[in-house]
Amino acid sequence: MELPSRLIEAAVDQMASLPGVGRRTALRLVLNLLNRSDEQVDAFAESFQSMKRGIHACPQCHNLTEAEVCSICADSARNESLICVVEDIRDLLALESTRQYHGKYHVLGGVISPMDGIGPNDLNIETLVRRIASDGKTNKETPTEVIFALPATMEGETTAFYLFRKLANSEVKVTVIARGLAIGEDLQHADEATLVQSLRQRLPYTT
Ligand SMILES: [Zn+2]
Repeated sequence: MELPSRLIEAAVDQMASLPGVGRRTALRLVLNLLNRSDEQVDAFAESFQSMKRGIHACPQCHNLTEAEVCSICADSARNESLICVVEDIRDLLALESTRQYHGKYHVLGGVISPMDGIGPNDLNIETLVRRIASDGKTNKETPTEVIFALPATMEGETTAFYLFRKLANSEVKVTVIARGLAIGEDLQHADEATLVQSLRQRLPYTT
């Protein structure tokens, strides 16, 4: 489709670079923005710029935060002895929305997927291993249980197995959420009741 201006063309290109946004949808969104006031469009653009500059990964769990550490790591009321390992921030948010889990998290930032060229070094695994290592910590700070809440896919299983071996030298108990989740189903797409049940009925991890 020939667009009447290269400025519109450039905006459509940017919009269409987002996942799940085709060029027709991109054009519709761009034309909608064009109809707004200058102030509205400035506020729109600034919200993204501020988000980009103001947000970083929590150095402990890799959740997103504007503070030094994220609100979950900073919350002393949460159970330090439990770490729930998830693939993605969206899985953390799904579990949080159940309000039934009061431990901490570790966000891997993906799962091992040789097909997509994602290996263990591309994921936040070393920081997890360091969190489990007990040297120099008091008992209160040392996690005693790591819960794998990874997707029920080949990649999720591969990642769980890799992590399990990495943690084998520690004394931490490794569990896995129960599979109320359908094979291949993402955590973030599961309903809350299923998530809560999966967490409650977690089992010792076995290879
Ligand atoms: Zn954190």
